[in-house]
Amino acid sequence: NLKNASLMARRRAAVPRGVGQSHEVFIARGENAEIWDVEGKRYIDFAGGIAVLNTGHCNPTVIAAVKAQLDLYTHTCFQVLAYEPYVELAERINALAPGDFAKKTMFLSTGAEAVENAIKIARAYTKRTAIIAFTSGYHGRTLLTLGLTGKVAPYKTGFGPFPAEIFHAQFPNALHGVSVDESIASIESIFKNDVEASRVAAIIVEPVQGEGGFNVAPPEFLQRLRALCDQHGILLIADEIQTGAGRTGTWFAVEQSDVAPDMITLAKSMAGGFPISAVVGRADVMDAPAPGGLGGTYAGSPLSCAAALAVLEVFKQENLLDRSRQLGLRLTTSLKKMAASHRCIADVRGLGAMVAIELCKGGDIHQPDADMAKRLAAEATQRGLILLTCGTYGNVVRILVPLTASDAIVDEGLAIIDACLTAIQA
Ligand code: PMP
Repeated sequence: NLKNASLMARRRAAVPRGVGQSHEVFIARGENAEIWDVEGKRYIDFAGGIAVLNTGHCNPTVIAAVKAQLDLYTHTCFQVLAYEPYVELAERINALAPGDFAKKTMFLSTGAEAVENAIKIARAYTKRTAIIAFTSGYHGRTLLTLGLTGKVAPYKTGFGPFPAEIFHAQFPNALHGVSVDESIASIESIFKNDVEASRVAAIIVEPVQGEGGFNVAPPEFLQRLRALCDQHGILLIADEIQTGAGRTGTWFAVEQSDVAPDMITLAKSMAGGFPISAVVGRADVMDAPAPGGLGGTYAGSPLSCAAALAVLEVFKQENLLDRSRQLGLRLTTSLKKMAASHRCIADVRGLGAMVAIELCKGGDIHQPDADMAKRLAAEATQRGLILLTCGTYGNVVRILVPLTASDAIVDEGLAIIDACLTAIQA
């Protein structure tokens, strides 16, 4: 039974190699936190389609909502003929977003598009051009978002030049010797050396860096960014594409820092597996571009709006924000226990159910072990667990298991990680 191998051969012949693939597995069916491949093998899914499946594979409430929508209409283009699910979803997200001010929301299809639109809106509102992003940040694969992304290989290699007027400040990282003071100082140094503060339209930041290695921004850092932005008339954009939709224990991660950004980008888990993204922000800011300046043929597809409304229902019915916090505690406690017996685990960190381990040779934080992360993910696949790596040095293993997964499934996955670490270090 070599179905995966023969499909991989066809994939290699038909699809460019640049579209990478972390596991040589083809899925046949998914249900909540479990997947069955084309050979009938079962896996526990700790990847969730890269942070898309907080409500699990084929959540019955989400599927029912999309099926009902399929029977009514599937596409009009919202800028041609509007439909209520788009407006209702905007109202719901406006009510959820932090900040004591009027808000508006627009929808796109992908995370990168949401970031692109947030930048367009920031420029239209401020009439300024420059953008500050952070080292190790990730914002997408389009040329503007690649420019914002703070990691070269593999994302940026060979694709430049990138748009002008983008500057990178240091993201704080206590473990790797960058304090909040140093991070703020690196922004001041951009104002001194690269671009005057009065030409900066926006600072864009992930409250927890996703692809960059699950680096949590200290609340104090986000508060100081807010103050710095207010001081200079700069807009603060939180990229919550990976952290949002309840992954960190609140609907938006910034809620835990008591910071209200001017705009927030959202995508991934907001529609439980259907493609949609959002920009939510201050109503006056969001209204800066003139009519016709924003949009897209598929932006805010009715099917995805129906799915996103259902995801909000599932969060309420199943109390998934509480579940996210409990799950985070369960994962962190268990991984810390593992760290005591596996020296390669140099750090266990996260926010809510966005949890990762950093692997280093002999537990020395200065010796990142990407090879170990790769071998752990490969061994886990063999043993029926899907894991994802991330991090500037590729040595972080992250967990994005559905929040709807049972404790038993989560514990089963964690036991596989423990067994894999024992096996690959033997
Ligand atoms: N921003 C962040 C923080 C992300 O994690 C991602 C996707 N990993 C993106 C933007 C880009 O989203 P998409 O792949 O949907 O374009």
